[in-house]
Amino acid sequence: MSAHDDKYEAVIGLEVHAQLLTRSKIFCGCSTEFGAPPNTHVCPVCSGMPGVLPVFNRRVLELAIRMGLAAHCSIAPYSIFDRKNYFYPDLPKGYQISQYETPLCKGGYIELPGEDGGAPVRIRLVRIHLEEDAGKNIHAPDCSLVDFNRSGVPLTEIVSEPDIRTPEQAGAYLRELRSMLRYLEVSDGNMEEGSFRCDANVSVRPRGSGTLGVKAEIKNMNSFRHVEHAIAYEIERQIEVLEAGERVVQETRLWDPDRGVTRPMRSKEYAHDYRYFPEPDLPPLVVPPDLVEQIRIEMPELPAARRARYTSEMGLSAYEANVLTQEREISDYFEAMLPGLSNRKTAANWVMTEVLRAVNESGRALGQAVPPAREAGALLKMVEDSTISLNAAKTAFAAMCKSGKDAQTTVAELGLLQVSDEAAIAAACDQVIAAEPAKAAEYRGGRDKLFGFFVGQVMKKMGGKANPRVINEVLRRKLSAG
Ligand SMILES: [Zn+2]
Repeated sequence: MSAHDDKYEAVIGLEVHAQLLTRSKIFCGCSTEFGAPPNTHVCPVCSGMPGVLPVFNRRVLELAIRMGLAAHCSIAPYSIFDRKNYFYPDLPKGYQISQYETPLCKGGYIELPGEDGGAPVRIRLVRIHLEEDAGKNIHAPDCSLVDFNRSGVPLTEIVSEPDIRTPEQAGAYLRELRSMLRYLEVSDGNMEEGSFRCDANVSVRPRGSGTLGVKAEIKNMNSFRHVEHAIAYEIERQIEVLEAGERVVQETRLWDPDRGVTRPMRSKEYAHDYRYFPEPDLPPLVVPPDLVEQIRIEMPELPAARRARYTSEMGLSAYEANVLTQEREISDYFEAMLPGLSNRKTAANWVMTEVLRAVNESGRALGQAVPPAREAGALLKMVEDSTISLNAAKTAFAAMCKSGKDAQTTVAELGLLQVSDEAAIAAACDQVIAAEPAKAAEYRGGRDKLFGFFVGQVMKKMGGKANPRVINEVLRRKLSAG
């Protein structure tokens, strides 16, 4: 962190473009599927041919309302589409259909988990509006090409108030937003495929000042890490400019991840005057109140509500609740493990270590990487019943990830059943004590520390499968009996 932290504070607002999970584009029937050969998902509408008319995809409206309700926005009963005019090769019509003065969703907020278990933080939203995506320029060594597959793909733009103060908080906001979009099945939030993109407006001002400094807009950040690094760099850069007695210039800057700096965009790469005007080819967007109510009724439980439930009802820590709820499928897996188990904490730890490790190491989706949740639950139930040890459960789980066999079969095949038979354990204890008469005498003479040595020896004799609680009881009895 900077030496000027006490003197300045950063003011950050984020604009996120999220691609909506529809099968077809926003104003035509072309597929939105990612990765098809260039210009195979195009038609006269999305390639901007003259004389064609756009037709609005109703599914887009439902998904955007779902996001708006989740973010506590007010849903406008009446909004309109506008033309945003600019000239660029990836924009075949010469304008983008967007929403300007009357967005679909206004106000609202995103609630972030509190830092270090503190109170949740609210980041207010300005608006959420609908728009179409542009195509993609591809620059080859000797020519430039345009792929219109992405042209007309539906987007929501989610614009925050400048309520964010640190790069870490910007990262937390984006993670929460992405998590919500995925819980809601509104967007897949895939940053690598460009379906979740972020621009940041960053300015600095003297700490305590009520007025905003001059901002720079940063583009081209395609991971959470890039966003945090780019904002941190930009804050330092602007503080240096101010400390040198100069003025920050309002401009658009690009993040260069290889050099770790932001640099100004050439002025020709963006235009200031979009000459917005209402789109004459589309009727106003009228939202029936019943549609909003229907969507409200069908809303799934969101990450913030789950976090609250995990801490208040299950007694998990804020950290555990946060890790478990970031991805809906992880959270669902955890909950599906619970029936029959009495210890929520152990199940939470199991998901955070064994399950997430198996997912990360295999590089596969949860469903393919680990056994069904009920089998993981069955394994933990055996630990609770002292049928197997926790270590044995880990061994079994790793095997189940590979074989796909159930818990019962795996534990039997690997011979992991724990021996709780007192007679067998007593016999092993007798043998160990008889083999170590000197140490037994020392223990009886007051060297309590030696107890662990005896436990280890008995466990070793029983191939690591004896129930440690029974070993402890029997050994203590035998050693004190003399
Ligand atoms: Zn099309």
